[in-house]
Amino acid sequence: MSPKQLAEAVNKRRTFAIISHPDAGKTTITEQLLLFGGVVREAGTVKARKTGNFAKSDWMEIEKKRGISVTSSVMQFDFQGKRINILDTPGHEDFSEDTYRTLMAVDSAVMVIDSAKGIEPQTKKLFQICKMRGIPIFTFMNKFDRDARDPLDLLNEVEETLGIETYPINWPIGSGRQFKGIYDRFNRRVALTHPADEDNPYLPLDDDGNVKGDNPLANDGEWQDALDEMELVDVAGNQLDREKIAAGDQTPVFFGSALTNFGVQTFLETYLQFAPAPSDHHTENDGDVKPLDPEFSGFVFKIQANMNPRHRDRIAFVRICSGEFDRGMDVTLERTKKPIRLSNVTEFMADTRENVENAVAGDIIGLYDTGNFQIGDSIYTGKKDIKFEKLPQFTPELFMRVTAKNVMKQKSFHKGINQLVQEGAVQLFRSYTSGDYILGAVGQLQFEVFKFRMQNEYNSEVVMEPMGNKTARWIDPDQLDEKMSSSRNILVKDIHDQPLFLFENQFAENWFKQKYPDVKLTAKL
Ligand code: GDP
Repeated sequence: MSPKQLAEAVNKRRTFAIISHPDAGKTTITEQLLLFGGVVREAGTVKARKTGNFAKSDWMEIEKKRGISVTSSVMQFDFQGKRINILDTPGHEDFSEDTYRTLMAVDSAVMVIDSAKGIEPQTKKLFQICKMRGIPIFTFMNKFDRDARDPLDLLNEVEETLGIETYPINWPIGSGRQFKGIYDRFNRRVALTHPADEDNPYLPLDDDGNVKGDNPLANDGEWQDALDEMELVDVAGNQLDREKIAAGDQTPVFFGSALTNFGVQTFLETYLQFAPAPSDHHTENDGDVKPLDPEFSGFVFKIQANMNPRHRDRIAFVRICSGEFDRGMDVTLERTKKPIRLSNVTEFMADTRENVENAVAGDIIGLYDTGNFQIGDSIYTGKKDIKFEKLPQFTPELFMRVTAKNVMKQKSFHKGINQLVQEGAVQLFRSYTSGDYILGAVGQLQFEVFKFRMQNEYNSEVVMEPMGNKTARWIDPDQLDEKMSSSRNILVKDIHDQPLFLFENQFAENWFKQKYPDVKLTAKL
């Protein structure tokens, strides 16, 4: 590709994730977006994957059994001249670690909210990760075909609970059975839920914001309410501010109904006018990597095993940060400084995994992996060493001591643990003194997946002894004295050999702080 072609290709890319609390409608909206993109799939396939009936699925066995999406996948489609990559994330909160890391690989995020419920715990947590990255966040207030909370109330809640300005791009006219349409102040039109003429669902607005010509809603109470509320928002609300949006300080808000596919296309079209093209990425050693740098670079944000159970392969998901990927290219793996040839690669076109011809900055590629890659690895071409910033580590809350049931099978036990930890399925800690293995997780299901996979993939039966909830706090190695540890604050080290305490509870942590006021304790995310 010439530099001009590369620039054109990169500037077309829009890479984002959809975040939500389970059941807010993420799957439903994803499905609608894929349909707009002309991705041929039967309606309901994304859904079916979730419930475990997806015939073509080769996702993990446990996912099928439980009917939950354990893994994140990547979907790509073209729409109105843009190439869109949607990074799907597991809905179940027990797999939020995986979701958090996926958010490191996107340029913006769409937050779907159930408008009857408002902000739910998982939305808040995921939002905070996006906020930390400073990426643009867009909000879709879903389920307006059902009775919803007052829209002003919803906006207030977003502003107060999440601490971000809102700017409603459009406004709902009623909700539930009385959901008449959407007043679209940005595109200067009203979209009707039940237009007299199906081919003509929009009523254009004049300069004063009134409907041009006949307005079938003119005598409806919902119409008047919507106008009053819009006026209030015009006068007292925020101004649309593209800089704030780009910095993640203001969120454009859309209203609609994913299930009835109302307001989703408008959302996508308008979203694409604001959503950023691939952005720069910080490195630890040499400033920022720019997407148009001719040398290829990227980082591994996720490793997944057994997408195809017949082949015991793993796939390392790489976000391309600069340049262009070519099949068979040689790259350097930063951690080992060794060359690796990228010949066996997949791109993610909806539910089929097709071989990548070329992919550029902003795209995600999947590398078949035989154990070379770890989460957070950087790869690059060219002479300049590139080490992308470390992916954040998350503070686990649940812990288990783990041993191999059969002491004769230590080899497969270690192999299994190492690989699953590299994949990020669970976090591994070692007791400082005894070297015992301790697993940490954000959600209980992570342990169950671990146990299941150890048995199924590594033929290693494990014994897990629950240690319960603990508060993990890292400590500066220079301040550490092993005598500080007790049964109420167990001393362990993480895989980077950094020491931390697992406090039994808040009380134990407070007691420690009083006893050692100079010792600094830190949490991860
Ligand atoms: P996810 O867990 O966030 O992926 O949520 P789903 O997309 O699976 O949706 C959860 C439930 O809400 C399903 O029963 C959907 O049919 C339903 N749902 C999603 N969007 C809407 C909507 O706009 N209106 C209504 N009434 N139901 C919806």
